[in-house]
Amino acid sequence: MSTIIDGKAFSANLRGEIARKVEWLKQEHSITPGLAVVLVGEDPASEIYVRSKGKQTSEAGMNSFEHKLSAETPQDELLELIDRLNNDPTVHGILVQLPLPKHIDEELVINSVAADKDVDGFHLSNVGKLATGAKGIVPCTPLGSMMMLKHHLGDLSGKKAIVVGRSNIVGKPMAALLLKESCTVTIAHSRTQDLPGECRRADIVIAAVGQPEMIKGDWIKPGATVIDVGINRVEKEDGSTKLVGDVEFSSVSEIAGAITPVPGGVGPMTIACLLHNTLQQACRLNGVEVPE
Ligand code: NAP
Repeated sequence: MSTIIDGKAFSANLRGEIARKVEWLKQEHSITPGLAVVLVGEDPASEIYVRSKGKQTSEAGMNSFEHKLSAETPQDELLELIDRLNNDPTVHGILVQLPLPKHIDEELVINSVAADKDVDGFHLSNVGKLATGAKGIVPCTPLGSMMMLKHHLGDLSGKKAIVVGRSNIVGKPMAALLLKESCTVTIAHSRTQDLPGECRRADIVIAAVGQPEMIKGDWIKPGATVIDVGINRVEKEDGSTKLVGDVEFSSVSEIAGAITPVPGGVGPMTIACLLHNTLQQACRLNGVEVPE
């Protein structure tokens, strides 16, 4: 059986550390980091996610500002709100919950957030910085995955890594982070030939596909480390539902050296990293060195 990489425990630990640093920032510099979350429309999954973000932001001692707008909100109104948040000195991080309603240009909105408050790391300036190895804001899910990988494996230099999925929010930034750690990186996608064979060559497999339990045990090199980013809700035989990853846990955990479970793996790291990014930006925007 593989070692289970416990994202729930890891994220609780990270959030504890962040809360300690927030307290220090308040005491020493009278700065309270502030995160603004903007939700447009009533998508139930997004509402749950935004509630959870608000709760964890407050628990870390930060200010949480929630802006809920109706699904019919005109684009200009959303852009005006973002402009106000960009200029609000109590706000250090801005997150616009995706997806946005169809009449709104998502790319325009993402790039209207000030790059140094873009705690999602989706602004073109942050994407460019990650691609060139400059210091910027790294997207939360890949950042959380990388933190767990490094904690588990230590030095990643020279390891063969495969990222299955090439989305802008997970696959591509994850590949850039692995490259920065001197891994030899393969990026696979729906047109990749012999995907099982490509995976079998890898010491590190990152699954970010959005296909329930697609990656099987016989695709995995014995002892490899597997990070399952996938979150898929599937129906069980009795009609109820459950969450599964992009990796078939039962077979892969027999072969891999270590694996993140779903739920309880990468998922909890995403919000923890959002808080991490907000704390970092609160320090940088105020010219304070980020505490160790
Ligand atoms: P996405 O935008 O739908 O991208 C999926 C990627 O997988 C695409 O690049 C696609 O290839 C590739 N793909 C799809 N089917 C494939 C197949 N049969 N073989 C090989 N590649 C295939 O998804 P995403 O936003 O990156 O999310 C991926 C997964 O991570 C989802 O399950 C999502 O729910 C989860 N997720 C989790 C978190 C978290 O907090 N833990 C955050 C974000 C996402 P093409 O480009 O060729 O179409």
